[in-house]
Amino acid sequence: MTKEQVLKQYFGYDTFRPLQADIIDTILRNEDCMVLMPTGGGKSLCFQVPALLKEGLTVVLSPLIALMKDQVEALRGNGVGAAYLNSSLSQQEQDSVLWKCKLGELKLLYVAPERLFSQNTLRFLQDLQISLFAIDESHCISAWGHDFRPEYRQLSILKREFPQVPIVALTATADRVTRRDILKQLGIVDAPVFLASFDRPNLSLTVLPGLRRTEQIKRFVSERPKQPGIVYCLSRKGTESVCEGLQKAGISAAYYHAGMSSDERSRAQERFLRDDVQVMVATVAFGMGIDKSNIRWVIHYNLPSNVESFYQEIGRAGRDGLPADTVLFYSFSDFMMRQEMITKSESPQEQKEVLEAKLNRIKQYAEADICRRRILLSYFNENVEKDCGNCDVCRNPRSKFDATLIAQKALSGIARTRQNVAMGMLIDILRGSRNQNILRQGYDKLPTFGVGKDLRGEQWADYLSQLLNSGIIDIAYDEGHAFKLNDKSWDVLKNGLKVDLVQFVSGEERKARQEELAPKEKTKKEVIKDAMFERLRTLRKQISDKLDLPPFVIFSDATLSEMAQRRPISEAQMKAISGVGDEKYKRYGKAFIDEIVAFARENNQTGTRVAVKGLTYLDTLELYEQGLDLQSIAETRNLNSGTIVGHLVKLKTEGHDIDFWRFIRKQEYEAIMEAARAVDYQPNTAVAPIFDYLNQHYDYGIIRLALAIGEKT
Ligand code: ADP
Ligand code: ZN
Repeated sequence: MTKEQVLKQYFGYDTFRPLQADIIDTILRNEDCMVLMPTGGGKSLCFQVPALLKEGLTVVLSPLIALMKDQVEALRGNGVGAAYLNSSLSQQEQDSVLWKCKLGELKLLYVAPERLFSQNTLRFLQDLQISLFAIDESHCISAWGHDFRPEYRQLSILKREFPQVPIVALTATADRVTRRDILKQLGIVDAPVFLASFDRPNLSLTVLPGLRRTEQIKRFVSERPKQPGIVYCLSRKGTESVCEGLQKAGISAAYYHAGMSSDERSRAQERFLRDDVQVMVATVAFGMGIDKSNIRWVIHYNLPSNVESFYQEIGRAGRDGLPADTVLFYSFSDFMMRQEMITKSESPQEQKEVLEAKLNRIKQYAEADICRRRILLSYFNENVEKDCGNCDVCRNPRSKFDATLIAQKALSGIARTRQNVAMGMLIDILRGSRNQNILRQGYDKLPTFGVGKDLRGEQWADYLSQLLNSGIIDIAYDEGHAFKLNDKSWDVLKNGLKVDLVQFVSGEERKARQEELAPKEKTKKEVIKDAMFERLRTLRKQISDKLDLPPFVIFSDATLSEMAQRRPISEAQMKAISGVGDEKYKRYGKAFIDEIVAFARENNQTGTRVAVKGLTYLDTLELYEQGLDLQSIAETRNLNSGTIVGHLVKLKTEGHDIDFWRFIRKQEYEAIMEAARAVDYQPNTAVAPIFDYLNQHYDYGIIRLALAIGEKT
């Protein structure tokens, strides 16, 4: 078998993603390598395909015990012999797995590192033919990585004990230092590194002002019924209160944080995996090892501490490759809070600087006025030539204006108050509010008092934040966040250094932007497709409950969506759907075909025509799209041209882009319409009189076509 055949037969996919084929070839040559791909990039196939092609057993090392069961289940679902060994199994179950290894019944064995180094497992493996070691989450081996696990260190033994067996190390996060360290620790320093693009174009990127966040989330979720998503919160308490808010609004939500018992946590997680609950409100403790491929959106309630974490967290959305949305709520006070957390932490100064630098990069993302994806990808050292078109900045380009005067007013306010006031007070002074504090300090006597009346408070807050962000104002966190002047401030104040700021966006405009985020109005065709999708989703859920498997292990959303679109009703058509391999077809093919046919029948009865390939006319569409003429389509399909015209008319009513004029000349059309008038043709009656009137010169197909055009105009 070739690797392409394995891909199709076992996984049901037609093509490899970038780098997958190269990586597989490298492993098939028994060479070591390292794979860096973003979450959802398709790392697993890189070792699963070689495992199937090579003689012997592939051992997969993974720290994520909770995930092993699902991964193994997914492989079995594809007809692959796979098992796992970890502490969750009884001794008897473990023995049975070892037996299967001995008998050669398995192609893949998932093992937790600590299990590998206990109970003589290594000795046991030495008597078997091992085809490959795959080290998943391999950044755990490096103390430089963000998730160091000491038991991973012992993996350095592998190359010594099994010098002939290739090693593939896989991870989604590794900067250059970590990368080199991983290779060194594994003893494969010269191995090639396959670095996939970290771009995930199917993820939309949006930053929204951090105001009335729960309200915004409620609206967001209600616009996405049944679409699973995660809300990440900073604190445990935050998860509980946001979850409660959503539940009160009738949204199906659960929360998850490290303060819960492990039982409670796995129950919450399970419900989310099984699509029993739509929204998971969680701290970042949730998600590592979540393989759920149909997460449709991720919201960050608070500012994450760095770009790596942020990218990993949003990466959990849309792993099936279908569009998914990500939203970050941001306000300057989030940033200040994070900054304070760093300042107050016990970390050594050196590390604090690193943390602060990282925090500043995520702030840059949040405050970007250029394409946000460019900022993210440049963080991962990827150069991007074009703006992405799928982030809020691309959708709503920012306009800037000369704000030198505004800046000068603010700076002079700061100077006159001896750099003692924080944002709130400064705004009051600029706007001329005569409140207690102002009067007590005598600030109402300042020449700057009231010079900024023309702007509203929220406008000032926005502009002051921008001045801070662009380094024109400093802030002293240890003096009650008092504003301070720096060299740049004086340049603006004294030398008129020009300052450009981004135009303030009002609450209403923001709302409009958010509405743009809301899914677009659907065409009739999409409505039918969605209804079909819902039916298939329900069927999937029934099967998954019966088999006690998460739904996405049966079929991914991408696969269901393609089924809903193409409506396969034969084995060949079903297997042509991406994600339907031989085993999946054997297990579920018939149930899904039956559902599609049932849906089509019911809807045809209720008057909504639902095209089902083979049952009706989608085959005609394919031939039409290949550019065939009417006669050739009719011959190919072994139907008369009148029937084909009937199909084309239906297709057009359904919203397909059909150009009738491709098949008929203007004169022909006019001659036929003329004849129709002459014989007083009525819609939906026989066309034979026209046929005869025209001396049988035009065939029925052309006549029907002309009439269809005539009806439309
Ligand atoms: P990772 O481990 O890198 O986060 P996965 O291996 O879980 O990603 O793959 C993510 C999703 O992409 C899975 O649903 C997987 O089946 C799918 N996938 C992987 N490779 C392909 C491919 N060549 N064609 C289509 N889908 C693929
Ligand atoms: Zn963009």
